[in-house]
Parts: sequence; C-alpha cells; structure tokens
Amino acid sequence: MKYPKQMRTYCPFCRKHTIHKVEKVKKRPRSELSQGQRRFRRILKGYRGFPRPNPTGREKPVKKLDLRFVCTVCGKAHTRGKGFRVKKFEMTEE
Ligand SMILES: [Zn+2]
Repeated sequence: MKYPKQMRTYCPFCRKHTIHKVEKVKKRPRSELSQGQRRFRRILKGYRGFPRPNPTGREKPVKKLDLRFVCTVCGKAHTRGKGFRVKKFEMTEE
C-alpha cells in the first residue's frame, strides 16, 4: 500500500482541513502505572491463578499498522479509527 507523507485532512483541534504529516505509531514500553499492567503484575505475584500464556509457535504474517496525523498548523496529532492490516507499506512524496 502506498500512502502520502503529507496530506490535507481534517484537524479536530483547528476544526478545519489543514496539512498533516503522516507517521507510523511506534511501539512504546508498557506504562507500569496503567491499570492493566498493575493488574498483570499483581497476578504475577501470585494473586488469583496465573495469567494466560501468550500463544507461541506462530506469528501473524500481516501485522496491524497504525497511523498518526500531525497537524502542521497546531502541531497536535490525532489518529483515525483502528489500525489496519497491510503486507507492504510505503510512504510516497507529496
Ligand atoms: Zn491543527
């Protein structure tokens, strides 16, 4: 799939169409303060059974991709819905 590096789209902060930079959302380390991570750590400590192990031996060939749109006017970023699956991803000029 080809996707433009820059595109003109709606900015929910400026409330109008502006030019946005498109970038991929990178993986971040899990925040230790989030509720889900705190619950997970608690279960690991031995409270309530054991967390489900991750399925091993298979990896999905096509992974989900998420895009961030950064407004060049106000500098704020927003995303659009959920990620989508695509085998090949290319950023094109203009
Ligand atoms: Zn904006």
